[in-house]
Amino acid sequence: MGFTYKPLNPEREGVEDLRVFAEKLLAKPSPGSAGRTGVWRLYKPIVYGDKCIKCGICWLYCPENTIIWPFRGIPSVDYEYCKGCGVCSQVCPAKAIDMILEGE
Ligand code: SF4
Ligand code: SF4
Repeated sequence: MGFTYKPLNPEREGVEDLRVFAEKLLAKPSPGSAGRTGVWRLYKPIVYGDKCIKCGICWLYCPENTIIWPFRGIPSVDYEYCKGCGVCSQVCPAKAIDMILEGE
């Protein structure tokens, strides 16, 4: 692989450099053979902003790269492509993401 993590700027905080690095590795969401995943998803994640500690772990772990995380902000979900796997909910250290049935 051609990617090796090195801080881009030692003066900046490491997590910001890690974010730039991770964005090179993360897959970008796109329609699969069954179309947009939001069409057939059974459960969907809901982010509770009042519980969120803005850590970005959900963004890092989402296998579809459908968590949109403004650096040090509250994430949102791209429901067009989120497949409802629940990984974001499982890894959130603040229990700020619940999975609810579609249509609820
Ligand atoms: S439910 Fe799965 S695909 Fe959807 S945002 Fe969470 S981790 Fe990503
Ligand atoms: S993992 Fe949880 S606490 Fe961290 S940014 Fe995502 S929703 Fe917020």
